[in-house]
Amino acid sequence: MTKSTNIVWHESSVTKAQRQAQNGHKSAVLWFTGLSGSGKSTISVELEKALFEKGVRAYRLDGDNIRHGLNKNLGFSAEDRSENIRRIGEVSKLMLDAGLFTLTAFISPYQEDRDQVRDILETGEFIEVYVKASVETCEARDPKGLYKKARNGEIKGFTGIDAPYEEPVNPEITLDTDVLDIEASVAFLLDYLQDNGYLQTNSPTA
Ligand code: ADP
Repeated sequence: MTKSTNIVWHESSVTKAQRQAQNGHKSAVLWFTGLSGSGKSTISVELEKALFEKGVRAYRLDGDNIRHGLNKNLGFSAEDRSENIRRIGEVSKLMLDAGLFTLTAFISPYQEDRDQVRDILETGEFIEVYVKASVETCEARDPKGLYKKARNGEIKGFTGIDAPYEEPVNPEITLDTDVLDIEASVAFLLDYLQDNGYLQTNSPTA
């Protein structure tokens, strides 16, 4: 719902393409989605580091971190989860305009919410990365002890236990972390960016 009136978008005199050209690479969001414990944070942390070491500008938005600040007024109802994702989508869009790769690590369980983020970005700017692992695997890892709490009834509406997770219908990338180790996932993502022309700009003035 739009509440603001009398607001007009103010264009910068520096364009996204100019910022990308200065950086020497394009910008896009790698949208990691998957169950809690599937490996979104772990893989995105390692990818951010690998990109940094290559001189590629990237910044990671992490679910728990964002909920400490920007989204601290939101809970885990379906409505709040959607608003959480909408805000992350808008922040990602700004970061793409700034010429950065944005790595987002949120469960983001609903296809419709993920599609809405895709819709506000340009073609090729939204790279949906499905970090796939079975509930059994995630529960065995349980890095934050959350599955245990969900099973005990201490957490209600936990994705994969008593709240749904909608598997991506047509993700750009699927990382099956039951099979791929962390290093292999990062290598796969770097290859994807390289092979699809994200790590360069077409011309100095592109
Ligand atoms: P999420 O951000 O999806 O909730 P985390 O990255 O916080 O998940 O936790 C995943 C846990 O699983 C970490 O403790 C990580 O070390 C472990 N793990 C084990 N095998 C893998 C793998 N192949 N890929 C990613 N993480 C793995």
